[in-house]
Amino acid sequence: MILPKSNRLTPEQVAAVTEIVESFGCRIQPIVGAVRTIYAIVGDERDELMINRLEGLPYIERIDRIQSPFKLMDIRSDLATHQIAIGGVTLGRDLLVIAGQCTIDPKNPGYFYETAQAVKEAGAHVLRGGVWKPRTNPYAFQGDDKSIEILMEASRRTGLPVNTEVMDEDQLKLALDAGVPMLQVGARNALNYSLLRQIGGAVAGRKTVVLLKRSLHMGTLNEFISAAEYIATFGNPNVILCPRGTAPALDGYRNHPDESIVPLLKERTWAPVVVDPSHSVGKAAYVPACALAAVAYGADGLCIEAHVQPSKGIGDDPKQAITPKVLAETIRLARELWALRRPSV
Ligand code: PEP
Ligand code: MN
Repeated sequence: MILPKSNRLTPEQVAAVTEIVESFGCRIQPIVGAVRTIYAIVGDERDELMINRLEGLPYIERIDRIQSPFKLMDIRSDLATHQIAIGGVTLGRDLLVIAGQCTIDPKNPGYFYETAQAVKEAGAHVLRGGVWKPRTNPYAFQGDDKSIEILMEASRRTGLPVNTEVMDEDQLKLALDAGVPMLQVGARNALNYSLLRQIGGAVAGRKTVVLLKRSLHMGTLNEFISAAEYIATFGNPNVILCPRGTAPALDGYRNHPDESIVPLLKERTWAPVVVDPSHSVGKAAYVPACALAAVAYGADGLCIEAHVQPSKGIGDDPKQAITPKVLAETIRLARELWALRRPSV
C-alpha cells in the first residue's frame, strides 16, 4: 500500500509510480477516500528493490506491506503445519528443555559428564555444551576443538542429543561431522547473513535442528524471523527461535529480558520459540522466575545453563548456571504452568 505525502498523487507522480511497479510485474489500484487517496500495489509486492525505489520517491510518505516478507517462516505459509522434534519432544506438544553448561572445560571434562547426567535426571531433553565461545574479551577462553569429543561422549553416556554453537565454517563442519543434531547460532551471529547462509546450506537435507538466538541488537521481530528465513530457504526448516535478552541491559540484569515477545512472534510465524532465561538475566538467582515467565508467555521450551558446581565452571557458568537441584524444580514448575496454560485445560 502506497501512502503519499500529499492527499493524492499528481498524474505525473502516478505515472512514475506505475512505471516502477509495472517493471516488477505489479500494478496500482487507487483507493479514493474523502480526503486522501492511497494506492494498493496489486501483485507480489515483496520485491525489496521495488519497495526501495518507491520509498526513494520524495513524494511518498511510506509503503505499508500487506504481504508477509517471509515465504517460509510466515504463519500462513505452507510450512505452518511443519513439526520439529528433538530429544523425544515434538515442539508444541510438550515443553522442550535444553540444559547444560555454558562452556565445556576441556581440562576438566568430568564436570561436563556429571552435569550431563544431572540435567538428564532433572528432566532435560537436550544437553547443551559450548565447545567454541564468542567472548567479548579476546584474552578470555575461546573454546577448544577437543571439547567436541567431550560433548559427543556425554551424549553417548546419557543418550541425550546435544546442542552447541558454531561461529564459522570450520566449526560448522566439525560439529556436523561429529554428529551434533542441534546447532546454535549465537546472539552475536544472528545478524551474520553469510554464516546463516552457510548453515542453511550445510543442514539442508539433514534432520539437524538450528537454535537461532535473537541478536542483542535486533530491532524488529521481522528482523529475527528473517534470519530464520535465511536458514530455511536452503531447504531445512527446522529452525527454532530463541529470545535471550537484548541490549541495552535492564539495569541489574545482563540484558533486557525479552520473553514477552513470544506471543508476538507466534502471531507472525509458526516457528517454535524456546526462551533462554540464563543470558536474559545473567544471574543464577533470577533464572527460574524468567524461565517461568517465558512459559507463561507461551514459550515452547527453555534453554537453561546449568552446572553441577557452578563455582568451578568457566565462561558464564560461575555467574548464571543454576544447579541441577534448582533446574529440576524449575522444570517441575514450568511443566505445571505449561499444563495450566494449554487451551484445552
Ligand atoms: C551461550 O549460549 O552460551 C551464548 C554465548 O549465548 P548468546 O549467543 O545468546 O550470548
Ligand atoms: Mn553462556
